[in-house]
Parts: sequence; structure tokens; C-alpha cells
Amino acid sequence: MSKKILVLPGDGIGQEVTASVLQILDFIIKKFSLNFSIDKLDVGGTAYEKFGSPIPETVLTAAKKADAVLFGAVGAPQWDGLSWEDRPENALLTLRKELNLFANLRPAFLFNELSNASPLKEKIIEGLDILIVRELTGGIYFGEPRGVVDDQSPNYAFNTMIYNEDEIRRIAKIAFESAQKRKGRLCSVEKANVLEVSKFWRSIVTEMSEEYPDVELSHQLADNAAMQLVLNPNQFDVIVASNLFGDILSDIAATLTGSIGMLPSASLDSSFKGMYEPCHGSAPDIANQDLANPLAMIGSLSMALRYSLEEETVANKIDKAIKKFIQKGFRTKDIATDVNYLKTSEVAEKIIEILENE
Ligand code: NAD
Repeated sequence: MSKKILVLPGDGIGQEVTASVLQILDFIIKKFSLNFSIDKLDVGGTAYEKFGSPIPETVLTAAKKADAVLFGAVGAPQWDGLSWEDRPENALLTLRKELNLFANLRPAFLFNELSNASPLKEKIIEGLDILIVRELTGGIYFGEPRGVVDDQSPNYAFNTMIYNEDEIRRIAKIAFESAQKRKGRLCSVEKANVLEVSKFWRSIVTEMSEEYPDVELSHQLADNAAMQLVLNPNQFDVIVASNLFGDILSDIAATLTGSIGMLPSASLDSSFKGMYEPCHGSAPDIANQDLANPLAMIGSLSMALRYSLEEETVANKIDKAIKKFIQKGFRTKDIATDVNYLKTSEVAEKIIEILENE
């Protein structure tokens, strides 16, 4: 049966980086005889201008039917003044919620050839290869009750950090299974020294570790984990954390690799259908100039092939091609050390050339 891929380019450089991915998709479908059907729709500000909504019903319906959604990026200053309903970013959060994408996987991988782009010293950062598994639909960002009380003295505001057992189990399962496929180490991050919800999180993850004897489980407090990520990032293989702590840790990990234009991500539901997107936004400052680095989007395609489209071998080939691209000295402007860099539209051609000569 054919696998359905929905491509949502969105706004700004989202359009440019998804164009690169469509070129590569076209090539791999022919080269590896893949049975994929591809649909492409407008989302974000682009959809708002055409249809009066950043996330038209047709997009939601198509996304629910898709095995994998490839999402570019949304947003630009001209839409910042709109109501939340109409803002491009609403498309992203609606998709995450409606598709029940509770697991966010963000690899932070450093190509040693690019270690000079990292803010950390080469000897600390060399060989970096971490996967952060962040819970995406629960915790303090969604917990009830929440609110602001402004008719008392003093006024106050509050949020609730809450996780039930099932929510912890399903994210931990993805983290344990990811560790099994990597170096077999999982670090669970929370604040069990001060938060009941974290103590509960730790007890569930510890109990589950009995089902995964091949995975070495450790626990770190969130403040220490943030420090360790900068001091000695290579101690980590897979990190699992709640929505709040995962948000902070994944941004620290992203910064370590030097350019946000290199970082892919996956957001999965319980049946491993998912949405795949680069970690960056729509970059209005470089949009329509053919300057964006599409490797994060191409890496996101590779993650889609691995997790949702059952094409691990092709995913490995794309990862290898990205590595070779860097090793051969090809650069986009964000990672270039001189004026010799490729345009966005030239990157896919080079990747295809490398795949062709495999
Ligand atoms: P951004 O990620 O778009 O850009 C930050 C900086 O990184 C900019 O200087 C940009 O030029 C650079 N950059 C980003 N991606 C790059 C790439 N692939 N190649 C080369 N350079 C790249 O973040 P921002 O400027 O804070 O936000 C811009 C817009 O994007 C806002 O409207 C914001 O709401 C939106 N945004 C969307 C998403 C998303 O769609 N997932 C995520 C973050 C921000």
C-alpha cells in the first residue's frame, strides 16, 4: 500500500527548504522504487492570505490521513499583529494537538568538519551525537488549573505541572526504544529533589527500565543536566524529559552544533505517524534570497523515512549523503568560512549527485 506524505512548505524559507526536499523525494522515489503518494498544501501566513485561515480544514484532514507530514516553517513580521486564531504559528500548535504528537525527537549531531561553528571548544564538542526526546503535549504548558488572579492583593498567576502514568510511560517507551537503536544509554531528566510530579516521573521510568535490560538508565536533575550538556555533552546518548525541561535542554543542545540550519526534528504519535520539521523558523531576514541551509529539512525527510515510512535503508543513505556533502567541503552561507558557498537551490542537486554515485 502506498504511504502518504503531506508537504506543508509554509512561509519564508519554509518554501525554499521544502523545494529541496521535494527534489530529493522525487529522486529517491524513482531510484529506490518507493510507493509514496505526495500532496502539497498551503499553511501558515501563506494559507491565511489565500484562504483566510493559517490552517484550513483541508490541511487538517489531509494531515490526519498522512503517514508523514513534512512541515517547512511558518511566520513573518507582517502577520505578528493578527489575533492568535489567525497567526501562522497557530497552524503548528493545532497540528501538534490534533495529530496527538506527544513525542518530540531532536537529534543534535555535530559534523567534526564544522566544529569551529560551535561555541564550545573542539575537544569538548567533537563527536557530539545526542538525541533529546521531549514530551510535547502535556506537563506545565497544558496543565490545568492555570490562570492569573488580578483582583487580590497581592495578585498572582499559576500553572500546573501534571503528568499521568500513561503519559510518562508512552514517552519513556519511545526513549528506551530509541536508546536500544543507538548506544544503549538513556538519561531521564527531572527535578525529583523538589517536585512531586518529577518523583513520580522518576519512579515510573525506573520501573520501566526492567523491561529494557540492554539500556543503561541514569537520572539527572534538570539544572545539573543543563550544566552537563555544556561541560561534557558526550556523556549523553538519549535524554528524555518533560515538555518544560525538554524545551530548554533541546535548545541548549541545538546551540552546541553551531547552526540551526542543520537540525531536524520529528514529532510522533503512538503509531509512529508524525510531523517532521527543521528546528528553525521561517527566517524572514534571508527569505527569498536562496541563502537558507536546507540540510535540517533534508535531515527531517530522513527521520520521516526512518520512523513513519518504514524505509530505514533509504534514511541511512540520505544521512550518509549529508555527511559526505559536508566532508567534500560543500557549505551553505550559514556554515561557510569564506565566500564559496552553495545556494539553497544547489544543495539538493549535490545530495542527489552523491546518492546517484553511491
Ligand atoms: P528563525 O529560526 O527563523 O531565524 C533565526 C536566525 O537563524 C536568523 O538569523 C535566520 O536567518 C537564521 N536561520 C534560520 N534557519 C536558517 C537556515 N535554514 N539557514 C540559514 N540560516 C537560518 O527564528 P526567528 O527569527 O526567531 O523567527 C522568524 C519567524 O519564524 C517568526 O515569525 C517565528 O514565529 C517563526 N518561527 C517558526 C517556527 C516554526 O515554524 N517551527 C519556529 C521558530 C520560529
